[in-house]
Amino acid sequence: MNFTPNKNAEFVVGVDLGGTNVRASIISHDEKIIGHARNHSEARMGAATVVESTAHTIMQAISEAGLRPDQIGAVGMAVPGHIDTRNGVIRWSPNFGETIEGVFNVFVDVPFTGPVADKIGIATYMGNDANVAALGEFRYGAGRGTNDMVMFTLGTGIGSGVISDGKLVIGSTGAAAELGHQVIVSGGQRCGCGTFGCLEAYCGTYGIVNRALTAIENGKHSLLHDAIGSDRGTLTPKQIDEAAQAGDLAALHVWEETGYYLGIGIGNSVNIFNPEKIVIGGGIRQATGLIDSARRSMERHSIFSIRANVTIVEAELGDDAGVMGAAELAWRMVNGE
Ligand SMILES: [Zn+2]
Repeated sequence: MNFTPNKNAEFVVGVDLGGTNVRASIISHDEKIIGHARNHSEARMGAATVVESTAHTIMQAISEAGLRPDQIGAVGMAVPGHIDTRNGVIRWSPNFGETIEGVFNVFVDVPFTGPVADKIGIATYMGNDANVAALGEFRYGAGRGTNDMVMFTLGTGIGSGVISDGKLVIGSTGAAAELGHQVIVSGGQRCGCGTFGCLEAYCGTYGIVNRALTAIENGKHSLLHDAIGSDRGTLTPKQIDEAAQAGDLAALHVWEETGYYLGIGIGNSVNIFNPEKIVIGGGIRQATGLIDSARRSMERHSIFSIRANVTIVEAELGDDAGVMGAAELAWRMVNGE
């Protein structure tokens, strides 16, 4: 059944659905969070169970806020993977699936917004989590007041989102703005996506840790030796940053190099999208020297008159970027944008 957004409502629901948890927040017109719920997403238990846990969490948040479903304008959801926003279908998401006859099958072409809407009786929409997080920063965080913004979220992978002339860029099937998978080194390191030389292969957690391990193996004297002892599988970006903070040259070089590669990716996005702000999210954004190095590299890899207009800033919403962006997605549907 198709539900239409309630144009007169003063509240929407923002949902952040991940591989571990599902969170829902009720957001009012004046930007306040007035209700909240969180549960396990049961991501590996199959589509019917994920729909059930999502719908249950939404209803729980509505009731915690002391509201009825008919007071909600719409529901927006941030979901990882290739998310077909227009058709409400999860095209591919390795975070979700179910085991059938001993084999784990990930979600491929799973209808999702329709089944959730049927359970809760409210118009429901979804977008890719990184795109939706960018929308959250654009509306409520570091991108507020701009019209053109690009966001990179640094983590195990590199999420990204683009706002162009106030609109979220989603492409023909919802998969646009995978800036982490732009090739920055021809014939470079293998990336998890199957190709070679992607930004993510250099600036995702594994790329960073691997360069630090290579530095150690090449005999560079480093505090990182002490940090990991004989177990090389345990090195983390946090440990590399702690060594850098203590002045360790090998560790500092890892962040300098990471910034160099990140700056190529940022420079490309500056040339392509002409943004006012580049927003950097994710825990490692504060690693010693990383952003300064990225800024210098961006200046070497972009056109001077285009970059003259751009500033690189830190994300402000942290873990709330997903729910806040999902709420904005819902408001845009309520307002017919
Ligand atoms: Zn890739």
